[in-house]
Amino acid sequence: MVVGDASLDIDTLVIGAGPGGYVAAIRAAQLGQKVLIVDKSEVGGVCLNRGCIPSKALISAAHQYESAKHGEAFGVSAENVKVDFTKTQEFKSSVVKKLTGGVAGLLKGNKVEIFNGECMFISTTEARVFNDHESPRYRFKNCIIATGSRPIELKPFPFGGRILSSTEALELPEIPKSLIVIGGGYIGAELGQMYSKFGTKVTIIEGMDTVLPGFDKDMTRLVAKSMAKTGIEIVTNAKAESAAQTDKDVTVKYSVGGESKEVTAEYLLVTVGRRPNTDGELGLDLIGVELDERGLIKVDHQGRTNIPNIFAIGDVVPGLALAHKASYEGKIAAEAIAGKKSVVDYKVIPAVVFTDPECSSVGLTEKEAKDKGYKVKSGKFPFAGNGRALSLNNPDGFIKIVANEENNIVLGAQIVGIEASNLIAELGLAIEMGATLEDISLTIHGHPTLGEVVMEAAELVEGHPIHVLTR
Ligand SMILES: Cc1cc2nc3c(=O)[nH]c(=O)nc-3n(C[C@H](O)[C@H](O)[C@H](O)COP(=O)(O)OP(=O)(O)OC[C@H]3O[C@@H](n4cnc5c(N)ncnc54)[C@H](O)[C@@H]3O)c2cc1C
Repeated sequence: MVVGDASLDIDTLVIGAGPGGYVAAIRAAQLGQKVLIVDKSEVGGVCLNRGCIPSKALISAAHQYESAKHGEAFGVSAENVKVDFTKTQEFKSSVVKKLTGGVAGLLKGNKVEIFNGECMFISTTEARVFNDHESPRYRFKNCIIATGSRPIELKPFPFGGRILSSTEALELPEIPKSLIVIGGGYIGAELGQMYSKFGTKVTIIEGMDTVLPGFDKDMTRLVAKSMAKTGIEIVTNAKAESAAQTDKDVTVKYSVGGESKEVTAEYLLVTVGRRPNTDGELGLDLIGVELDERGLIKVDHQGRTNIPNIFAIGDVVPGLALAHKASYEGKIAAEAIAGKKSVVDYKVIPAVVFTDPECSSVGLTEKEAKDKGYKVKSGKFPFAGNGRALSLNNPDGFIKIVANEENNIVLGAQIVGIEASNLIAELGLAIEMGATLEDISLTIHGHPTLGEVVMEAAELVEGHPIHVLTR
């Protein structure tokens, strides 16, 4: 590594090694580019270190605890079931370490150079990267900005002490006795329910009329019902106003329908969305990268910004802030840089929530399809009509398929229930391929599997389901 002012020449500079950046770097290297990836923190970004992966590890541990305690239906009982949360956290950290180590290995194996430091643009073809030891300057032909996002901090609820962002909520050394969650979106719902399963008294304060407001009401109703079972109190249509903390607890004042209320708990978790990392020292203003009113980078259908050799992907560009979207955009941007005609097509981006029951959605909802002018037919097949769901003692929920009435082409699907996160993949593929209901219903699905519910939902929409009565 050269220190000082001599520039090092590379083909593609990737800033940020999250699921957007590292995937883009590997794809660019596969396409023959000399690639440097820089990150001021750990390889893997928010997703592997402070987001998707650690949250799912803790959620799995909470499920494990709950199943160990409640096996009565299977004739299984256990006494004295305990959680050693230090070990739970160690398990989480070991999963993170395995994955981040794996990503570093993949980058090296693809001959991508990794540099740990903070990146700042000097011009549209040069950037400097700083860490405690050195500050090399790089000259690049193309650059992909993948600097991600951070939790939004609200003025009345500054992070610190007993007021946590999702990052600190994943790192608690002990299971809290009580927790207030402001924001019932997917992060608040997942983390709130995870702690509730471990025995925390959880109160969710949500501004809209339901938790997970982006999903259909018939799905969120089931999640709210399941949350109530472990004692989660959900306060909807509520406005959180202020918080006061002591060394022992934190009290939140909020209002519902004009009435003032308050609740006290050991911690407050604030999850009200994420802000793109496009401000600060990065220097986007210096080189003239155009942002929208929310601070997101404006890009075209290949991820190209207003500066032709600079691309942006993931949480810094408009659209869903999800890891798989970031990775997808990373591949497209790398291919565009290599001269390929790849363009983004957002018809199929699954949204997946790891609550209990899980929720997932892909393509259009019934309402969205109607709003777009389609003649729509749809139907919901219940997990209660499926042998595997019953044998898992998990019959709640359904798979809904939305299709074009004129040609039976699948337009969208929504799932609430066991393994919704995995089952949505088949429906995503169906939409991507322009498949019809018949393509799904004529595909022989193994028995007894949860996948049969996908097939039966297609048959239901066609009007001839076997395992439910339609009369
Ligand atoms: C608790 C939680 C749970 C989540 N669960 C899911 C889930 O289940 N599924 C899902 O799809 N998504 C989930 N997400 C969202 C997902 O983590 C993000 O959408 C994803 O990480 C975005 O990827 P990215 O590559 O755009 O950026 P990030 O993952 O945010 O990575 C950006 C990287 O850029 C680096 N960086 C920033 N500025 C600079 C700079 N100037 N110089 C050098 N490096 C810089 C940062 O250090 C960081 O490592 C979750 C998020 C949270 C917080």
